[in-house]
Amino acid sequence: MSVTIKSGDEIEAMRKAGRITADAIKAVGAAVRPGITTKQLDIIAEDYIRSMGAVPSFKGLYGFPASICTSVNEQVVHGIPSDRVLKEGDIISIDAGACIEGFHGDAARTFAVGEILPEHQKLIDVTEKSFFCGISFAKAGNFLYKISGAIQDCAEGEGYGVVRDCVGHGIGKAMHEDPDVPNYRNNKRGIKLRAGMTLAIEPMVNIGTHKVRLLSDRWTLVTRDGSYSAHYENTVLILPDGREPEILTMSKDQGQKG
Ligand code: MG
Repeated sequence: MSVTIKSGDEIEAMRKAGRITADAIKAVGAAVRPGITTKQLDIIAEDYIRSMGAVPSFKGLYGFPASICTSVNEQVVHGIPSDRVLKEGDIISIDAGACIEGFHGDAARTFAVGEILPEHQKLIDVTEKSFFCGISFAKAGNFLYKISGAIQDCAEGEGYGVVRDCVGHGIGKAMHEDPDVPNYRNNKRGIKLRAGMTLAIEPMVNIGTHKVRLLSDRWTLVTRDGSYSAHYENTVLILPDGREPEILTMSKDQGQKG
Protein backbone atom coordinates (compact mmCIF):
# COMPACT_ATOMS: atom_id res chain seq x y z
CA MET A 1 0.00 0.00 0.00
CA SER A 2 1.37 3.39 -0.93
CA VAL A 3 -0.28 6.47 0.48
CA THR A 4 0.63 9.73 -1.26
CA ILE A 5 1.69 12.88 0.56
CA LYS A 6 0.68 15.98 -1.35
CA SER A 7 3.03 18.90 -1.95
CA GLY A 8 2.03 22.54 -1.61
CA ASP A 9 1.11 22.92 -5.30
CA GLU A 10 -0.84 19.68 -5.26
CA ILE A 11 -2.76 20.81 -2.20
CA GLU A 12 -3.65 24.06 -3.98
CA ALA A 13 -5.07 22.06 -6.90
CA MET A 14 -7.02 19.88 -4.49
CA ARG A 15 -8.48 22.97 -2.84
CA LYS A 16 -9.73 24.10 -6.25
CA ALA A 17 -11.17 20.68 -7.06
CA GLY A 18 -12.77 20.53 -3.64
CA ARG A 19 -14.38 23.92 -3.94
CA ILE A 20 -15.83 23.13 -7.37
CA THR A 21 -17.16 19.80 -6.07
CA ALA A 22 -18.79 21.49 -3.08
CA ASP A 23 -20.38 24.20 -5.17
CA ALA A 24 -21.67 21.66 -7.71
CA ILE A 25 -23.43 19.76 -4.92
CA LYS A 26 -24.77 23.03 -3.54
CA ALA A 27 -26.24 23.88 -6.96
CA VAL A 28 -27.85 20.46 -7.14
CA GLY A 29 -29.20 20.78 -3.61
CA ALA A 30 -30.83 24.10 -4.48
CA ALA A 31 -32.64 22.39 -7.37
CA VAL A 32 -33.89 19.37 -5.42
CA ARG A 33 -37.69 19.54 -5.25
CA PRO A 34 -40.72 17.40 -6.01
CA GLY A 35 -41.12 17.04 -9.78
CA ILE A 36 -37.48 17.23 -10.85
CA THR A 37 -35.79 14.16 -12.34
CA THR A 38 -32.47 12.77 -11.22
CA LYS A 39 -31.21 13.22 -14.79
CA GLN A 40 -31.95 16.97 -14.57
CA LEU A 41 -29.87 17.10 -11.38
CA ASP A 42 -27.03 15.35 -13.20
CA ILE A 43 -27.10 17.99 -15.95
CA ILE A 44 -26.98 20.83 -13.40
CA ALA A 45 -23.88 19.31 -11.79
CA GLU A 46 -22.11 18.56 -15.06
CA ASP A 47 -22.81 22.03 -16.47
CA TYR A 48 -21.50 23.70 -13.32
CA ILE A 49 -18.34 21.57 -13.12
CA ARG A 50 -17.50 22.15 -16.81
CA SER A 51 -18.26 25.90 -16.51
CA MET A 52 -15.47 26.04 -13.92
CA GLY A 53 -12.98 24.46 -16.31
CA ALA A 54 -13.07 21.13 -14.48
CA VAL A 55 -14.19 17.65 -15.52
CA PRO A 56 -16.76 15.49 -13.70
CA SER A 57 -14.61 12.81 -12.04
CA PHE A 58 -17.30 10.13 -12.02
CA LYS A 59 -18.20 10.24 -15.72
CA GLY A 60 -16.72 7.10 -17.23
CA LEU A 61 -14.99 6.08 -13.98
CA TYR A 62 -15.11 2.26 -14.09
CA GLY A 63 -17.71 2.89 -16.83
CA PHE A 64 -20.17 4.92 -14.73
CA PRO A 65 -22.55 6.60 -17.20
CA ALA A 66 -23.22 9.97 -15.48
CA SER A 67 -21.53 12.89 -13.71
CA ILE A 68 -23.05 12.35 -10.26
CA CYS A 69 -24.59 9.49 -8.30
CA THR A 70 -28.22 10.04 -7.30
CA SER A 71 -29.35 7.56 -4.64
CA VAL A 72 -32.98 7.84 -3.51
CA ASN A 73 -34.49 6.52 -0.25
CA GLU A 74 -33.38 2.88 0.24
CA GLN A 75 -30.64 3.36 -2.37
CA VAL A 76 -27.31 3.64 -0.55
CA VAL A 77 -24.83 4.76 -3.19
CA HIS A 78 -24.08 4.68 -6.93
CA GLY A 79 -27.65 5.35 -8.11
CA ILE A 80 -27.68 6.27 -11.80
CA PRO A 81 -29.42 9.51 -12.84
CA SER A 82 -32.53 8.72 -14.89
CA ASP A 83 -36.05 9.86 -15.72
CA ARG A 84 -37.13 9.06 -12.16
CA VAL A 85 -39.17 11.98 -10.81
CA LEU A 86 -38.52 12.97 -7.19
CA LYS A 87 -41.58 13.21 -4.99
CA GLU A 88 -42.46 14.87 -1.72
CA GLY A 89 -41.03 12.89 1.19
CA ASP A 90 -38.10 11.34 -0.71
CA ILE A 91 -34.53 11.74 0.43
CA ILE A 92 -31.74 11.83 -2.13
CA SER A 93 -28.00 11.39 -1.71
CA ILE A 94 -25.89 13.30 -4.21
CA ASP A 95 -22.29 12.13 -4.64
CA ALA A 96 -20.11 14.22 -6.94
CA GLY A 97 -16.49 14.67 -7.91
CA ALA A 98 -14.57 17.22 -9.97
CA CYS A 99 -11.07 17.10 -11.44
CA ILE A 100 -8.96 20.17 -12.20
CA GLU A 101 -5.21 20.50 -12.81
CA GLY A 102 -5.02 16.72 -12.51
CA PHE A 103 -6.47 16.44 -8.98
CA HIS A 104 -9.85 15.29 -7.71
CA GLY A 105 -12.39 16.35 -5.11
CA ASP A 106 -15.12 14.01 -3.82
CA ALA A 107 -18.13 14.83 -1.63
CA ALA A 108 -21.69 13.74 -0.87
CA ARG A 109 -24.75 15.17 0.84
CA THR A 110 -28.25 13.83 1.46
CA PHE A 111 -31.13 16.22 0.76
CA ALA A 112 -34.81 16.25 1.71
CA VAL A 113 -37.33 16.46 -1.14
CA GLY A 114 -39.98 18.82 0.21
CA GLU A 115 -41.36 17.77 3.58
CA ILE A 116 -39.89 14.55 4.96
CA LEU A 117 -40.60 12.41 8.00
CA PRO A 118 -38.75 13.40 11.19
CA GLU A 119 -37.17 9.92 11.33
CA HIS A 120 -35.62 10.54 7.93
CA GLN A 121 -34.32 13.97 8.90
CA LYS A 122 -32.77 12.39 11.96
CA LEU A 123 -31.00 9.82 9.76
CA ILE A 124 -29.57 12.66 7.62
CA ASP A 125 -28.45 14.60 10.69
CA VAL A 126 -26.83 11.63 12.44
CA THR A 127 -24.99 10.62 9.27
CA GLU A 128 -23.51 14.12 9.04
CA LYS A 129 -22.70 14.08 12.74
CA SER A 130 -20.91 10.74 12.41
CA PHE A 131 -18.61 12.29 9.80
CA PHE A 132 -17.66 15.06 12.22
CA CYS A 133 -17.15 12.55 15.04
CA GLY A 134 -14.79 10.71 12.71
CA ILE A 135 -12.73 13.65 11.55
CA SER A 136 -12.07 14.79 15.08
CA PHE A 137 -9.53 11.94 14.96
CA ALA A 138 -8.19 12.80 11.49
CA LYS A 139 -4.97 14.23 12.87
CA ALA A 140 -1.30 13.62 12.14
CA GLY A 141 0.06 10.92 14.45
CA ASN A 142 -3.28 9.13 14.95
CA PHE A 143 -3.94 5.71 13.52
CA LEU A 144 -6.48 5.73 10.71
CA TYR A 145 -9.06 3.43 12.28
CA LYS A 146 -9.67 5.81 15.16
CA ILE A 147 -11.72 7.68 12.55
CA SER A 148 -13.56 4.48 11.63
CA GLY A 149 -14.43 3.61 15.22
CA ALA A 150 -15.71 7.10 16.00
CA ILE A 151 -18.03 7.05 12.98
CA GLN A 152 -19.33 3.62 13.92
CA ASP A 153 -19.96 4.56 17.55
CA CYS A 154 -21.86 7.70 16.57
CA ALA A 155 -24.16 5.97 14.07
CA GLU A 156 -24.67 2.72 15.96
CA GLY A 157 -25.31 4.71 19.13
CA GLU A 158 -28.55 5.82 17.44
CA GLY A 159 -29.39 2.23 16.50
CA TYR A 160 -28.44 2.65 12.84
CA GLY A 161 -26.48 0.29 10.59
CA VAL A 162 -23.14 1.43 9.15
CA VAL A 163 -22.51 0.14 5.63
CA ARG A 164 -19.43 -2.07 5.36
CA ASP A 165 -19.39 -3.05 1.70
CA CYS A 166 -18.31 0.47 0.67
CA VAL A 167 -15.62 2.52 2.37
CA GLY A 168 -13.87 5.86 2.11
CA HIS A 169 -10.50 6.20 0.43
CA GLY A 170 -7.38 8.18 -0.24
CA ILE A 171 -7.79 10.69 -3.08
CA GLY A 172 -5.52 12.84 -5.23
CA LYS A 173 -4.36 12.30 -8.80
CA ALA A 174 -6.67 9.29 -8.76
CA MET A 175 -10.22 9.34 -7.45
CA HIS A 176 -9.55 6.22 -5.41
CA GLU A 177 -6.14 5.88 -3.80
CA ASP A 178 -4.83 4.02 -0.79
CA PRO A 179 -5.74 3.71 2.00
CA ASP A 180 -9.25 2.36 2.46
CA VAL A 181 -11.14 4.33 5.14
CA PRO A 182 -13.77 2.01 6.64
CA ASN A 183 -16.66 3.41 8.68
CA TYR A 184 -16.43 0.55 11.21
CA ARG A 185 -13.78 -1.23 13.26
CA ASN A 186 -12.16 -4.33 11.82
CA ASN A 187 -9.53 -5.22 14.40
CA LYS A 188 -6.76 -3.31 12.64
CA ARG A 189 -5.36 0.07 13.51
CA GLY A 190 -4.58 1.15 9.95
CA ILE A 191 -1.81 3.48 8.87
CA LYS A 192 -0.46 6.32 10.94
CA LEU A 193 -1.79 9.60 9.56
CA ARG A 194 0.69 12.16 8.28
CA ALA A 195 0.36 15.80 7.23
CA GLY A 196 -0.31 16.10 3.50
CA MET A 197 -2.45 12.98 3.23
CA THR A 198 -5.85 13.60 1.62
CA LEU A 199 -8.77 11.31 2.45
CA ALA A 200 -12.38 11.03 1.32
CA ILE A 201 -14.26 10.15 4.50
CA GLU A 202 -17.81 9.05 3.77
CA PRO A 203 -20.17 7.37 6.21
CA MET A 204 -23.13 5.57 4.60
CA VAL A 205 -25.74 4.96 7.30
CA ASN A 206 -28.96 2.92 7.19
CA ILE A 207 -31.94 3.12 9.52
CA GLY A 208 -31.97 -0.70 9.63
CA THR A 209 -29.44 -3.36 8.79
CA HIS A 210 -25.97 -2.45 7.52
CA LYS A 211 -26.38 -5.11 4.84
CA VAL A 212 -26.78 -4.06 1.22
CA ARG A 213 -27.44 -5.67 -2.14
CA LEU A 214 -26.68 -4.73 -5.72
CA LEU A 215 -29.51 -4.03 -8.17
CA SER A 216 -29.55 -5.63 -11.62
CA ASP A 217 -28.18 -2.41 -13.16
CA ARG A 218 -24.87 -3.54 -11.58
CA TRP A 219 -24.37 -0.11 -9.98
CA THR A 220 -27.06 0.80 -7.49
CA LEU A 221 -26.58 -0.48 -3.94
CA VAL A 222 -29.74 -0.69 -1.83
CA THR A 223 -30.35 -1.64 1.78
CA ARG A 224 -31.24 -5.30 2.11
CA ASP A 225 -34.22 -4.52 4.37
CA GLY A 226 -35.50 -1.57 2.32
CA SER A 227 -34.80 0.93 5.10
CA TYR A 228 -33.73 4.45 4.12
CA SER A 229 -30.04 5.31 3.82
CA ALA A 230 -28.03 8.55 3.98
CA HIS A 231 -24.52 9.50 2.85
CA TYR A 232 -22.24 12.33 3.91
CA GLU A 233 -18.75 12.80 2.51
CA ASN A 234 -15.94 15.30 2.35
CA THR A 235 -12.39 15.30 1.08
CA VAL A 236 -10.12 16.29 3.98
CA LEU A 237 -6.45 17.26 4.26
CA ILE A 238 -4.41 16.07 7.24
CA LEU A 239 -2.58 19.06 8.73
CA PRO A 240 0.67 19.22 10.70
CA ASP A 241 1.03 19.46 14.47
CA GLY A 242 -2.07 17.54 15.43
CA ARG A 243 -4.43 20.21 14.13
CA GLU A 244 -8.00 19.46 13.04
CA PRO A 245 -8.07 18.57 9.32
CA GLU A 246 -8.92 21.05 6.58
CA ILE A 247 -12.16 20.18 4.81
CA LEU A 248 -11.58 20.76 1.10
CA THR A 249 -15.15 20.19 -0.12
CA MET A 250 -17.14 22.73 1.84
CA SER A 251 -18.77 25.77 0.23
CA LYS A 252 -17.68 29.13 1.67
CA ASP A 253 -21.04 29.83 3.26
CA GLN A 254 -21.43 26.33 4.68
CA GLY A 255 -19.09 26.88 7.62
CA GLN A 256 -17.62 23.74 9.15
CA LYS A 257 -21.06 22.12 9.27
CA GLY A 258 -22.62 22.55 5.86
MG1 MG B 1 -15.79 8.80 -2.26
